[in-house]
Amino acid sequence: MKTCETCGNEYDKSFEIIKDGTSHVFDSFECAIQALAPTCEHCQCRIIGHGLEANGVMYCCDHCAEASGVKGLRDQQRKRKRPGRSDRSGFDCCSRESKAQSC
Ligand SMILES: [Zn+2]
Ligand SMILES: [Zn+2]
Repeated sequence: MKTCETCGNEYDKSFEIIKDGTSHVFDSFECAIQALAPTCEHCQCRIIGHGLEANGVMYCCDHCAEASGVKGLRDQQRKRKRPGRSDRSGFDCCSRESKAQSC
């Protein structure tokens, strides 16, 4: 029985994640994301998908990266395209401007 380091819950199915050589214990992925997932520099949402890294800064999607002045990401993405995946990486919550949903 280990204790979740985010919420303090003791859970027999807790699991361990080792990041940068440091071990972290969580009772749920939600708590793990809360503690370990990077944050989009532009919209501040948690990056749970692959995200994008430009100049050492993380973004959730190419829309956020471009909004922050990063250029040429779409071309890079195209080259790195994985089979069976759509063009988009990460979340596109903030590119749906018609819906006033925040992420
Ligand atoms: Zn927890
Ligand atoms: Zn974003």
